[in-house]
Amino acid sequence: MTRTVYIYNTLSRRKEEFVPVHPGMVGLYVCGPTVYGEPHLGHARPAVTYDVLVRFFRYLGYKVRYVRNITDVGHLEHDADEGDDKIAKKARLESLEPMEVVQTYTIAYHDAMRRLNTLPPSIEPRASGHIIEQIELIKRILDAGFAYVSNGSVYFDVPAYNRKYHYGVLSGRDIDDMMANTRSLDGTGDKRSPYDFALWKKASPQHIMKWPSPWSEGFPGWHLECSAMSEKYLGEEFDIHGGGMDLQFPHHECELAQNTASRGQGGVKYWMHNNLLTVNGQKMGKSLGNFTTLADLYKVYSPMTIRFFILQAHYRGTLDFSNDALSAAEKGLKRVLQAVRDFRNLPHAPGSRNEEICGLPEKVVEALCDDLNTPIDMAHVFDAVRVVNQVKDGSLKLSDADYEALSEIFLKLVPDVLGLVDEVSASSEEKTVEGLMDMILEVRREAKARKDFATSDSIRDRLKDLGVTIKDTKDGTEWSL
Ligand code: ZN
Repeated sequence: MTRTVYIYNTLSRRKEEFVPVHPGMVGLYVCGPTVYGEPHLGHARPAVTYDVLVRFFRYLGYKVRYVRNITDVGHLEHDADEGDDKIAKKARLESLEPMEVVQTYTIAYHDAMRRLNTLPPSIEPRASGHIIEQIELIKRILDAGFAYVSNGSVYFDVPAYNRKYHYGVLSGRDIDDMMANTRSLDGTGDKRSPYDFALWKKASPQHIMKWPSPWSEGFPGWHLECSAMSEKYLGEEFDIHGGGMDLQFPHHECELAQNTASRGQGGVKYWMHNNLLTVNGQKMGKSLGNFTTLADLYKVYSPMTIRFFILQAHYRGTLDFSNDALSAAEKGLKRVLQAVRDFRNLPHAPGSRNEEICGLPEKVVEALCDDLNTPIDMAHVFDAVRVVNQVKDGSLKLSDADYEALSEIFLKLVPDVLGLVDEVSASSEEKTVEGLMDMILEVRREAKARKDFATSDSIRDRLKDLGVTIKDTKDGTEWSL
């Protein structure tokens, strides 16, 4: 924790030294998925980015509370006031209860994220479980004079807010300019200004997901849930709020306005935004037909290849998915993981330090301290990979001190911070099965070694009855279900 970490703050538009609200602790809120469809590529980048951030802060000794929400209230598209309710639409299409849609895709999301080796958040609040908190927050904004009730809905009064505070600070917008360029207020419906946004929306009779409130039976506006849940779990002022760049406006701008309107301060010290993905040079989106689900992608490239690929670019830069780029990432990852395996058996002896080798872990940490610069990080990891290969082919000798330095990279930074591992950590049941199989196969190996073939054959046959096939190869015994 003696380290100085720098983070690019979208609010100030510059890199700032990270100074936590509470010493030694990091409060992080990341906008999670709206669960109405298969997890796709767009979900992978923020998940991996904030996962490395969490892992790195923990590596530095911070206690991290990582909150990532699940948006499971069927909000409306666009600025949360109009368009389709995506969860309800999916429910109608598939003849399901909205909560069945939510459950199905929450499980799919968790599974896809687990395979990317992202750690689960400390708290994963659901919007539908925090309706009371959201209603209370609306009351506070109304009391402060920054919202109005109109025909059973409640809207945030952007011009009123802007007279006291500055609406648009996060996304660099000037509401006065925006207003001056708006010719007509036609089509604003119940809203006084086209920039006002819904805090509570009165539900139409056919709307399925709705709750009682002082204003109408309805549902909260999308931006509201993150203000309510981040305050509940991280307090009135917390450290970092993350999300994709596409959320900067209107979602985060509105969140910031809601926070300020209700508690007189923005509440977030550092706003972090990861850049978006392009696919073969085009912005990813359903309309472009390049909406790749992670389940489909995992059939071609391992989740770890995708993780490695994401880490090769800085989170604020664009990242283009293409077959060529992924194939290159696959090769790069193989080299790193091979070096991790080889490293354990490298010879080393007492001797003098090689300053270049001993300086490598520091360089890796330094790059991460500099606004999570993972591409520079990767370059230093590859320097370490080259050292391993030179020792392997005999052109370089390692002292104990050199080995110690490399172990920080290969046994800690690569697996624990960058999260690059051979096998994605399995579920606890799978881990138990693997552990039991290791144990059973060891007993069988021992039986064979003392020529107790009755026991070794019996183990094989009984496993077969249970649906486990084992195969003896020159590298040991393989098993499959
Ligand atoms: Zn959010």
